[in-house]
Amino acid sequence: MSIKRNIYSLVACIFLAYGFCATFVNAESSNTGTQDSISESAKIHLTEEEKIWLANHPDIVFGYTSSFEPLLIENENGEFSGIIVDLFEVINRRLNTNFSMYINKWPTVLRKAQDKEIDGVLVMKSSLADRMGLLKTKIAATDYPTFYIRRNADFKIESLDDIKGKTISYMKLAAYADEILKPYKDDINVIECTQSHMPLKMVADGTADLALTLTSNIYTVAKHRYTNIDPKYTLWQYPVEGVMGIRPDWPILVGIINKVLDSFTEEERNAVYSKWGALQYKKSFNYALLWEILGGISVVIIFFIWSNIALRHLVKRRTDELMATTLQYRTLFESASDAICILKEGVVVMCNKKAVSLFGYESEQEFIGINAQTVSPELQPNRQSSKELAYARIEQTLSGNPQFFEWQHQKKDGTLFDAEVNLTPIKVRGKLCILGVIRDITEKKEAERALLESKKKAEESDRLKTAFLASLSHEIRTPMNGILGFADLLKQPEIPEKEKEDFINVIETSGQRMLNIINDLIDISKIEAGQVVLNKEATLIHEILDDVYNFFHHKAKERHIDLICDKPLPDDAAVLEIDKNKITQILTNLVVNAFKFTESGSISFGYKHKDNVLEFYVKDTGIGIDKQMHNIIFERFRQVDITFSSKNEGSGLGLSISKAFVEKHDGEIWVTSKINHGSTFHFTLPYKPVQKI
Ligand code: ADP
Repeated sequence: MSIKRNIYSLVACIFLAYGFCATFVNAESSNTGTQDSISESAKIHLTEEEKIWLANHPDIVFGYTSSFEPLLIENENGEFSGIIVDLFEVINRRLNTNFSMYINKWPTVLRKAQDKEIDGVLVMKSSLADRMGLLKTKIAATDYPTFYIRRNADFKIESLDDIKGKTISYMKLAAYADEILKPYKDDINVIECTQSHMPLKMVADGTADLALTLTSNIYTVAKHRYTNIDPKYTLWQYPVEGVMGIRPDWPILVGIINKVLDSFTEEERNAVYSKWGALQYKKSFNYALLWEILGGISVVIIFFIWSNIALRHLVKRRTDELMATTLQYRTLFESASDAICILKEGVVVMCNKKAVSLFGYESEQEFIGINAQTVSPELQPNRQSSKELAYARIEQTLSGNPQFFEWQHQKKDGTLFDAEVNLTPIKVRGKLCILGVIRDITEKKEAERALLESKKKAEESDRLKTAFLASLSHEIRTPMNGILGFADLLKQPEIPEKEKEDFINVIETSGQRMLNIINDLIDISKIEAGQVVLNKEATLIHEILDDVYNFFHHKAKERHIDLICDKPLPDDAAVLEIDKNKITQILTNLVVNAFKFTESGSISFGYKHKDNVLEFYVKDTGIGIDKQMHNIIFERFRQVDITFSSKNEGSGLGLSISKAFVEKHDGEIWVTSKINHGSTFHFTLPYKPVQKI
């Protein structure tokens, strides 16, 4: 509720309260009007004798008591008002006299009247006046006995019989009460009171069931705020009438007073009674009630305003807190390194910037609205349908089981990437949705793959080394056995010269083989250590080719293999700045291998001039090499057949040494081969011919 609205309410309430109280104010003014009309309208016709008598008796005093409210009411300042006072004032005004009032306790008043210390009693029972020997005027005031009852009483009073069994409070010495209650005295309990408000108080606080007092006592009800009791049953058949008692020696005054009493019309009397039956009620409530109501309203409004302000502060604080929290979450959401989406019925309804960029979309608007299938390929790596798998995951999540799994996603441009996906069920505005967190794990996957690869390689390398060591020991032992065995044979004295020569040849060959192996090991160690140094010099490559040809010519002949050497360029165009030994070693390696793996046919070698390179080749018609091994054989220790039973000698280092030497010359080496159709090894050298010195 706003402060404005509170103020409107306050104003409305003040008007209401004012209106409520204004009703009484109006009643007061109307009664005052009645009183005025009493004094104005009446004309009293006194005889000359009466006028003279009055003139001679200016100090007439009438007595009364304040015990009978509202006949006479004394306020806290000792001022008097009430029905008697009104009547008395009217009498004085109409007779133009100055009668005064003596007020004291009732017995004192009566005694003084009897002793003629005062001249009369204002209102008293006719019978009492008789008993006291006072003269009586006509009826000055009439009232009626009335039963007062609590508003929430559980019984009704509609006839005198209804008082049976009840406790009834009333004023002591009230003759009308004695008369009314007498027939029922055996059926009722009575409480006699000495103060006029007590019978009513007893009903109000529940001590008595009924109070029997006068109709005019409604004034007392209002004065004492006995708000829970009402006058309920009035005994109109028992009027309580009062006369004025006048000292016995002044009958003339009785006549004068009677004239005034006669001048009262019925309306005038009723006006006085209703004034004291209702007006006082109003008076006692009027401003106090107004202030009470306003006070109450103000308290309520102040409370509302206070609570409103407090509430606004609270709301503001909570709003600020909420905004700060929202901002924090938003920042977290936006700055997250993972893509975050909220899916409703399988469709993206919210996402962060990372999601947009990860899937390669332009903007959030473009990304929102797409479904899970759009960002997945048709099939996952396990060949299962993405649609079916995604559906199952979503179902599981919605039924309360969060999902964590690897997924292959597809970007807008069709690129695939591996992701880790975390799906959690959440409620958004009461609707069950899915919070999806997608992490790109491409790098992780690649690292995994690389790790696996290197693991495989390490294992392979380990395996190769084992095989190498085995083959190395075989390679070394074979020639060593040859050397030692034949050297031993040479010790025999009677060996023919021819055999001796053969033995020495075997020892030489074996020694050479050992030397080759040792050279290979030294070379590969140098390569490993990065210590290969080229001794370049201007070299006629035809010389190298001729050397190789000459070296293998006899072997080819022995094995009935055609050995062909091709040298297309003229000598002066075939001089290059190269390390002659290393190029010779490369060609020798390749030709050795060709012999190793060729049973029959031919081995041709040479070069071709292509643009800015010379492309060397060694071609055989041997066993050929499986395509899968074409690259691998250039790695260290690699052999197509690494089994122990391999009949081919070799350490598996020749090609890797050749490759390192070729690359050192800025060339390339490769093989083209088909199993059982022979192999051709190629390597290039940059063609920058120089002059031979
Ligand atoms: P090795 O000392 O074992 O010959 P290489 O590095 O020279 O070592 O060769 C590696 C492997 O390549 C050989 O073991 C063989 O399996 C294969 N290879 C090399 N040259 C040929 C060829 N001309 N024909 C068939 N296989 C070959």
